[in-house]
Amino acid sequence: MAFTQNAAVQKASLAVVNGLVWPPRRRATAVAAMGDRILAAGSDADVRLLCDRHTRVIDARGGSILPAFNDAHVHFLMASRSLSELDLYGAETQVEVERRITEYRAEHDGPWVVGRGWFYSAFPGGMPTTELLDRLVPDRPAYLESFDAHTGWANTRALLATGVESPGVLKEAAMLGVTRRIPARTRDQDLEALRAGMRVAAEHGIGSVQEAGEGQDQLELWEALREADELTLRVRLAFDMVPGLSAEAWKERLDLYDETVRAHRTNPWTSNGILKAFADGVVESRTAAMLEPYEGTAELGAPLWDGNELAHAVRAADAREWQVQVHAIGDAAVRQALDALAATTRDRRHRIEHIEAPSPLDIPRFAELGVIASMQPQHAEPNSNLFGIWLPNLGAERAAYGWPWRSILRSGAHVAFGTDWPVVPLDPAASLHVAVTRQTRAGEPSGGWLPDQRFNLAEALAAWTWGGAYAEHAEDQKGTLGEGMLADIAVLDRDVVAVPLSELPEMKVTATVVGGRVVYES
Ligand SMILES: [Zn+2]
Repeated sequence: MAFTQNAAVQKASLAVVNGLVWPPRRRATAVAAMGDRILAAGSDADVRLLCDRHTRVIDARGGSILPAFNDAHVHFLMASRSLSELDLYGAETQVEVERRITEYRAEHDGPWVVGRGWFYSAFPGGMPTTELLDRLVPDRPAYLESFDAHTGWANTRALLATGVESPGVLKEAAMLGVTRRIPARTRDQDLEALRAGMRVAAEHGIGSVQEAGEGQDQLELWEALREADELTLRVRLAFDMVPGLSAEAWKERLDLYDETVRAHRTNPWTSNGILKAFADGVVESRTAAMLEPYEGTAELGAPLWDGNELAHAVRAADAREWQVQVHAIGDAAVRQALDALAATTRDRRHRIEHIEAPSPLDIPRFAELGVIASMQPQHAEPNSNLFGIWLPNLGAERAAYGWPWRSILRSGAHVAFGTDWPVVPLDPAASLHVAVTRQTRAGEPSGGWLPDQRFNLAEALAAWTWGGAYAEHAEDQKGTLGEGMLADIAVLDRDVVAVPLSELPEMKVTATVVGGRVVYES
């Protein structure tokens, strides 16, 4: 137990007792915080000594006391907005998709029907049609994004309203033709959406999120919530890094970003300093960039940066002390990203996001180059989308290296976990389950899909806490419950170490503390 010398006079403002502290340390069953910092972790008796009648005491009832989860990759504003829109996530069949759309349309009379979450595998051939959406929503424009946010499904009225002439299924950048012209949300609506999103995060024990892009446009919203003392969640905002700029134009963009950063000093609640680039799309729509064609086609996908363009842009950013994160899913994109990051500053902790189908030759390069693997276990949930669309697009040979988080960790690299919300639910318990079983919630397939890639639970918890903190250069502030760390704590309803793995998804958060304040209690 690590008492400070004046512990006898320092009283805890908050204590969590009667639990099991994770990572396990000298049989610690309790944690005390003073203000926004951890004061000590120890036995209940030790921690009780630090309490007085002003201390707020939370009873963990034998559950685990963890560092709050840190989601290393989210699209928090997009997801928060979608909380009030049509939700198609998890609809496995076209019948179910149609039912949800019809029901939503009947109950909502806004000028547009907007929503997200559909699985490619719900439709014959893996894509829906304009005609189908015309039939389901004949009276107004409708626009529905796939679960991965890489494909848009529009009806004819939406295409007419936005002047888009392509067919109703829009891949990647073509989506902007419609999304740019959907009636914009007001600032107040966005603030309200973020408040709702923060409530979802608090319910799931999440204390920090890392927003993967568009941060330069969101900074003002988050700052407004911080100034009003409304934040219950810490956020790191990645600014966008886009292809197609000249070296001069990229320099000017970085000048602008540097200026923005100077105006918004990083603080424990809102931080920045990272740039997000997309190297490719997704396997499902065959836009992920591959070294060899997709199964049964001549298509190689769609790399978004020319040969050396990404490397030049990354080096310019690296030289100005920006950390970089690159979305790379296909083996060609992962290789391009690793090549681009090869001649940079190791301490910058550059990252690659997703890493769904890397070449086995590139797996050891993460450790060699000091590149962090930022992965989202729920994407590898072996469901109908994976077996029906993802795997057939790649073929069995390449699919055998799908989401190889264990191989990457074994090679000595750092791994950070997250959800990619709204692509999958903001649910660390569901993520931990896939990370350690490589199974669906129903336990399929038996033994797990590519079981060699399973993490053990300690590894998965570390990737969800310390790993995320390391990926944002904040492991000296969060990710563990040591003395002096930020008091960001998740209390679970059971002992996470003892719970049968199949029951992980049912595990519930009973309390969430961020900055020493209780932001959720069941
Ligand atoms: Zn993402």
